Amino acid sequence: MSAADTIEVAAPRGVLEPVPARVHRVSRETHDTFTLAMHYEGTEPMVRFSPGQFSMLYVFGVGELPISISGDPEHPDQPLYTVRSVGPATYALVTKKPGELVGIRGPFGTAWPLADSRGKDILIVAGGIGLAPLRPAIYHILRHRGDFNRLMILYGARSPKDQLFRPELGAWALLPDTQVLATVDYGGLNWRGYVGVVTSLFKYVRLQPNNTTAMICGPEIMMRYVIREIESRGVPHDQIFLSMERNMKCGVGFCGHCQMGPFFDCKDGPVFDFQTLRPWFDRYEL
Ligand SMILES: Cc1cc2nc3c(=O)[nH]c(=O)nc-3n(C[C@H](O)[C@H](O)[C@H](O)COP(=O)(O)OP(=O)(O)OC[C@H]3O[C@@H](n4cnc5c(N)ncnc54)[C@H](O)[C@@H]3O)c2cc1C
Repeated sequence: MSAADTIEVAAPRGVLEPVPARVHRVSRETHDTFTLAMHYEGTEPMVRFSPGQFSMLYVFGVGELPISISGDPEHPDQPLYTVRSVGPATYALVTKKPGELVGIRGPFGTAWPLADSRGKDILIVAGGIGLAPLRPAIYHILRHRGDFNRLMILYGARSPKDQLFRPELGAWALLPDTQVLATVDYGGLNWRGYVGVVTSLFKYVRLQPNNTTAMICGPEIMMRYVIREIESRGVPHDQIFLSMERNMKCGVGFCGHCQMGPFFDCKDGPVFDFQTLRPWFDRYEL
């Protein structure tokens, strides 16, 4: 092949080509989960995001991985990512030191339906690290409190030491028209809160099914039981939203790694309404 036959494709910065960003701060959330505050290098423009979207973070020499943005959408200049160390790439991320470089692509994907949920009760159900992609939605609702009716947050974690954002959960619980209930699988001797799976909290919640939007993120098994609970209370399927996790490579709908039936998790998700996703939920290798 001669040089004339080669086609040069410009990789749009931030879409296919990572934009360099420096780690500004690393805060410990739990024994295995850390929040990284990033700072774009030099003159890179602020990248606005919608709650629920994710970035592809490039850990040079290790790999690239999808991580949801967990910070305040009103502060896109210093994006936050809350990462649980489960393997090589996440370990390399959480052990980064301030000043080190990471590549960022995105933000990508669909968002929680906040504009369409104005005037409604919002039910947020999170399991484990699943609270991270929901935190920007909570920040948005609290900042625009008059646009929404009641806010109910149900959070399940393995144990008290696995709970994310504990001080914030406590502060949100004190706000008017806001109900925050947290449960753990194993409490230990000093735990005075609820013990049990997250669905056990539904008995403390009063739902108005025709005026509620539900937003769910957590392990798929947990989401399956939460959806059953919510649908048994009459919330329509098109008002139940969930964030799906699939292995991803490109993040922009080319490679097919994250395909679920007719959808790509990266561009048609990660946030789907249950009505749309139902035929493909719980099915793998499609
Ligand atoms: C849209 C999206 C948003 C995400 N947001 C976050 C986030 O905010 N915080 C966070 O900690 N993690 C998040 N993840 C998961 C994160 O991308 C994976 O944990 C990471 O890719 C694991 O890479 P690794 O090299 O550290 O571990 P690996 O060695 O690749 O994997 C370790 C273990 O995690 C499993 N795993 C790896 N990747 C995925 C994946 N994409 N989905 C499900 N299981 C996987 C593997 O099967 C294995 O059991 C998100 C994933 C997606 C798709």
